[in-house]
Amino acid sequence: MYPELKLFIAGKWRTTSRDIPVVNPATEDEIGSLPCASKQDLDDALEAAVRGFRVWSRTSPRERSDTILRAAALLRERQEEIAHAITMEHGKPLKQARLEVIRGAEFFEWDAGEAMRTYGRVIPAAPGHKFSVHHQPIGVVAAFSPWNFPMSQPARKIAGALASGCSIILKAAEETPAGAIHIAKAFEDAGLPAGVLNLVFGEPAEISGHLIPQDPVRLVAFTGSTAVGRHLTTLASEHMTSVLMELGGHAPVIVCEDTDVKAAGISSAVRKMRNAGQVCTSPTRFFAHESIFEDYATTFVERAAATVVGNGMDQNVEMGPLANDRRVPALIELVEDAREKGATVATGGAKHGDKGYFFQPTVLLNVPDNARIMQEEPFGPVAVINPVSSLDDAIGKANSVPYGLAGYAFTNRADYIDRLIDEVEVGNLSINTLEASMPETPFGGVKSSGYGREGGTEGLDNYMIVKNVWHSAD
Ligand code: NAD
Repeated sequence: MYPELKLFIAGKWRTTSRDIPVVNPATEDEIGSLPCASKQDLDDALEAAVRGFRVWSRTSPRERSDTILRAAALLRERQEEIAHAITMEHGKPLKQARLEVIRGAEFFEWDAGEAMRTYGRVIPAAPGHKFSVHHQPIGVVAAFSPWNFPMSQPARKIAGALASGCSIILKAAEETPAGAIHIAKAFEDAGLPAGVLNLVFGEPAEISGHLIPQDPVRLVAFTGSTAVGRHLTTLASEHMTSVLMELGGHAPVIVCEDTDVKAAGISSAVRKMRNAGQVCTSPTRFFAHESIFEDYATTFVERAAATVVGNGMDQNVEMGPLANDRRVPALIELVEDAREKGATVATGGAKHGDKGYFFQPTVLLNVPDNARIMQEEPFGPVAVINPVSSLDDAIGKANSVPYGLAGYAFTNRADYIDRLIDEVEVGNLSINTLEASMPETPFGGVKSSGYGREGGTEGLDNYMIVKNVWHSAD
């Protein structure tokens, strides 16, 4: 079920002389060997992307849309095979991997529709003059996608670029290459012209350092940590290259006194453990009103502790391992720091089992503000639950981090909802649900969570330039 791993450059699959192993994080078995791109491979990809841009930017929006829809249909048909590969390389439960494949296809389907709606406008002018505004593809995109959603993260970037008429060189995550390989195969089979989509792997800093300064690259699209996003933005700014940055989050959840405490506690615990907490929108800092804190925390801790942890291939498993071994010590450090500063570890807090990169579902209560986890994104199955005295207190705490990606609240009070919409500093706010976005809604952050939006009617904006035309008949 696991695909052969290769680079895809100028419409051809290629191997290289340098390989790195791909490991199943549930078993620690090697499941594949991934070729790393050399500078020559990257230069070939760049040349191919320049040629690809010439062809694709002059292809009609309807034809672009049709090609993307054909590829999306193939991804849906191949759902089972792709989902198995994702679970093998990433560890997430197969059920979640299946949903991810469908979500990836939906990103393509939405942007395929948007490809035909990149409207310009006509501005009134004096007789003999015409002002018109045109949206045109920005050029070659250098994109970098992370390992937490092996299929849907690459899908977002490829969909935006291809729907806009751009060509793209994507460096997908080395830990989880299969999702991007399957997307490239689907586009090859759907008849995408050579060079429009190029896929490379290798040493991340080497690839970004080589591609970003190149003149044909007009947009750097990145999803990953704020630290790396800042570095790539600095590199891009030296060349006045545009960036689209989807970075870290540290999502607050405000649980108000009027809510159904049991239902909120259960759904919060289930959502926290989804993808082993490795989601940039993962709910992490839970602020419950002091009048319901005990009930909410008890329900949450019971449900979190009951999470079935194991190999994602087993049907009843709810949470798989972390995707890579470096995240286990990173989480242990954060939990120990909180414990030393006075937090209660209500459940979990340690590695789970002897084999694989598993971490226990973990809940920390009454965590002091000076604990590192109150500012640093854990990116793992660790929740913090603290009491708050009022909505003011909760909003103040929600906004007290440098991040601003997703935020959540449980309440039915209209006055509270009104204030949450105005005052919580995030790009995506969800009330009475812990879903953060859909392909048809704009997704992205404020503050250190980045800039630009993917999805929604805003999704193609970063991939296009605005050209104003003044046509004088005089
Ligand atoms: P990391 O900062 O080392 O890497 C994050 C991602 O950036 C990886 O995919 C990596 O391959 C890539 N990367 C790293 N250096 C790069 C460079 N110089 N050029 C181009 N790409 C580069 O962190 P990590 O240990 O892999 O993951 C942990 C942190 O990453 C988390 O704390 C989380 O904030 C962040 N992360 C965020 C998302 C997201 O969806 N926003 C996804 C994955 C990881």
